[in-house]
Amino acid sequence: MRRIIVAILSLFFCVSAHAASIISDTEIESVIGELIAPITAAANIPHANIRIVDDDNFNAFAMGGTDIYIYTGLLTRVRTPNALRAVVAHELGHTIGGHMAQMSARMETEMKRTMIIQALGVGLMLAGGNPSLGAGALVGASGIARQSMLSFSRDEERVADNMGFDLMVRAGYNPNGFIDVFNQMNDMTAVIESKINPNAINHPLTSERLKNMREKLATGDIKNKKFKSDDAGTVRRYDMVRAKLVGYLDTDSRIKTLYPNSDKSDAAIYARAIANMRFGNLNGAAVGTRTLIARNPKNPYFYELLGDLEYRFGHYDDAIAAYTRATELRPNSPMVDVAHALVLVERRADGDISRAIELCKRAILHDESPIAYWVLARAYGSDDGRADWAMAEYYRMQNKPDKSREYARRAKSRLKPDSPEYIKSDDILKTTK
Ligand SMILES: [Zn+2]
Repeated sequence: MRRIIVAILSLFFCVSAHAASIISDTEIESVIGELIAPITAAANIPHANIRIVDDDNFNAFAMGGTDIYIYTGLLTRVRTPNALRAVVAHELGHTIGGHMAQMSARMETEMKRTMIIQALGVGLMLAGGNPSLGAGALVGASGIARQSMLSFSRDEERVADNMGFDLMVRAGYNPNGFIDVFNQMNDMTAVIESKINPNAINHPLTSERLKNMREKLATGDIKNKKFKSDDAGTVRRYDMVRAKLVGYLDTDSRIKTLYPNSDKSDAAIYARAIANMRFGNLNGAAVGTRTLIARNPKNPYFYELLGDLEYRFGHYDDAIAAYTRATELRPNSPMVDVAHALVLVERRADGDISRAIELCKRAILHDESPIAYWVLARAYGSDDGRADWAMAEYYRMQNKPDKSREYARRAKSRLKPDSPEYIKSDDILKTTK
C-alpha cells in the first residue's frame, strides 16, 4: 500500500530519484516562455526563468521566486497551451502561498550546484568529447526536492490550486486548463487511487482536486466571463516543441505511436525527422527537413535542424549556410551560434576560427552553457592559454570544481596577468573550492 501511495504522490509533485539534466534549447525556451508569460506576469514575476528538466516524470515546480522547472515528461503529455498554463499557475500558487519558504533556499542552492545543462541538436550528437551529457548529477538534488515536494499537504495543494485558478483568471485565460491537466492525471492514476482511503493520506486525490475546480468553474462570474483563446499559430508552436522533445528524447516505439507515418502534420514530420537523424537514418531525416522548410520557409528552427543534419553528413558548407539562415530569421539564438561555431572550427577555412570565437562569445553573453565554452576552447586550440580558461569555465558549469581549478591554474600560468581570461581564471580560483 505504501508503495502505491508513493507512486501516486510522485505524479506532479515529486522529483524522481534518477538523474536528470536541464535542456537548453532556444526554440523550446522561447515558445514555453511566451506561453506562460501572462501567468508569470499575473503573479508579478515578469522575469521568470524557464528550465526544462530532461526527465520523463509528469512534474513541474517553481523555486526561488523566479525559476520554473518543467519536466519533459509533462510537456510531452500536456496537450494544450492552456493546460500548461494551469500547471505553472498551480506551481506559482505554492510560491505565492509561501509553501516552500523554508526549503527553497537550500533546495535552490543544491539544485543549481548539481545542475547539468544539455543541448539538443549538435550538443546531443557530439561524440567523443561529448560535453553536456553528464547526467547523474541531479541525484543529490532530487532527494531534497522529493522531501519538500511530498511535504505539501492537502491544504497547501488546495490553496495552490485556488491561487492558480485566480492567476489564470487574472491573466485572462480560461481556468478550465486545470480540468485538462487533472483529467490527464486521472487517466494515469484512477485505478490506483480508487483503492485508497483518502483519509489515510495527507494529500489530495486527483478526483478531489478535479471536483474543487469544477465547482469554481461553475460559479456565475466565471461561467459568463470571456477568456482569451490561443490562435492557431500559438497552438502550432507548442505542438512543434512537444514533437521536438519526443523526437530527441523518446524511444523509437513511442515516437511511432505518437507520430505514425500516416500523420503528415508538420509536428509529426518534425518528430520523425529528428528521430531519423538520431537513429542514423540521415536520408530519411533530410527528406522530412526539406519538406518542413518548403512548407515553412521562414521558420528558423527547421534551418537549425538542417544545419545539424548537414553537419552529420559532413557537408560543412551546407551546414554553415543553414545556420546562417537560421540566425538571419531569428537573431539571438545562442544554441544555433554554438552549433555554427562548432562547424566553423571543424572546417577551418580562412577566417573561420575568429568567426567561431565571436559566435561562442556572443552565445555566452546571451546564455552561458558548457557546450559554448567547450567549443570556444576548441576554437582557441590547445596552444592557447585562453583554451585553458574556457575549459575551466566548462568544468565550472559541469559542477566539476577540481577540474575547473586545475584548468584555471594552467590558464593563469600561460596568460598575461592583465588579460581578461587571466582575471576570469583568477575569479574561478577565488570562488570555487
Ligand atoms: Zn502542488
